[in-house]
Amino acid sequence: MIYLDNNATTIMYEEVFQILQKYSTEIYSNPNSIHEFGVKADVAMEEARFKIAKIMGVMPYEIYFTSGATESINWAIKGTALSRKKIGKHILSSKVEHSATINTLSYLNNIGFDIEYVKTDDFGKVDIEDLESKIRNDTILVTFMFANNEIGTINPIKEIQEIIKRKNEKTLFHVDAVQAVGKVDFRLKDYKCDMASFSAHKFHGPKGIGFLYKKESTLIHPLITGGTQERGQRGGTQNVPSIAAMAKALELSIKELYEMDRIKTIRDELAKDLEDLGANIVTPLNNSTPNTISAFFEGLRGDVIVNALSDEDIYISTSAACSSKGTSGSRVLKELGYSNKAAEGMVRISLSSLTTGDEVQRFINILKNVLEFLRF
Ligand code: PLP
Repeated sequence: MIYLDNNATTIMYEEVFQILQKYSTEIYSNPNSIHEFGVKADVAMEEARFKIAKIMGVMPYEIYFTSGATESINWAIKGTALSRKKIGKHILSSKVEHSATINTLSYLNNIGFDIEYVKTDDFGKVDIEDLESKIRNDTILVTFMFANNEIGTINPIKEIQEIIKRKNEKTLFHVDAVQAVGKVDFRLKDYKCDMASFSAHKFHGPKGIGFLYKKESTLIHPLITGGTQERGQRGGTQNVPSIAAMAKALELSIKELYEMDRIKTIRDELAKDLEDLGANIVTPLNNSTPNTISAFFEGLRGDVIVNALSDEDIYISTSAACSSKGTSGSRVLKELGYSNKAAEGMVRISLSSLTTGDEVQRFINILKNVLEFLRF
């Protein structure tokens, strides 16, 4: 098998799996139980929180465990809306965000919030001047992704942060940092946003676990009410096995970051090979996550290429995994002004630190045959 769909999800590191197993079958207690067995799970959970906070350069009490980035994003956006609706109802974002953001904003729009979208360039990068002109006194939140999951474009998060705070220091800034970890050296201490969302399965951790970073001074309503877990901000028994495993995955994926120079070289060569096969490259190679390349082939459907490759045990994708089933092409490409045909033709190849040059070479050789067959 050649797996080149790492923006959708990644293989779990073996060491991470060992931890998942340990806290599922050995130390499986509820971290909120007061007995000694419960305390063991609580200690593991708090050690994980401490490790994540240390890597990110923030305080442990600013890390809240969630079921993944979709929940974190929902919490950041809806929590801000609920807690600040008396101050304002204006929220800014972009149209190329992940559906976790887009559909949460559309829900808020339906219940009376004023959602406005900032212009982007042809690659989906936020237009700073347009952002500056759109921030108002009643803007309660700005939310942007660090890197686009479909085409890899990176946003100028530091610049965005400075502009927001200069124009309205009360406006909160949330970053969807899901596609950053393991690909670029993303540490929260370097990006002074108010909130940020993360998902472990994108960096070789388990699925269904993530965290929300929420600055100590950022007070928003909880999304999930229940018990007093997570300092009363997120009810529900914490998923200790996955939390402990996520902290390990984060540590390992940061250690493996040096591999990204190699991956970028492979990705850039792959871009040339794809162009030789007639692809139109969509990803901006000089401003993108180093593992991602998206392209379309004139006259061919992306899903047909994906299925033909999958018959050869090679896995790439058309667009975002969560929206590629049953939809017609890349929403991001359509938002960027590409034709429906181009959007339907898009394929995304996403590598990981574990991808080898040999795998990519074999992929290109087989893709060549597949394209010849499909064009015949
Ligand atoms: N944001 C981005 C940029 C993503 O790529 C994803 C997953 O594809 C998410 C949010 C949602 O993450 P999850 O499905 O783990 O909740």
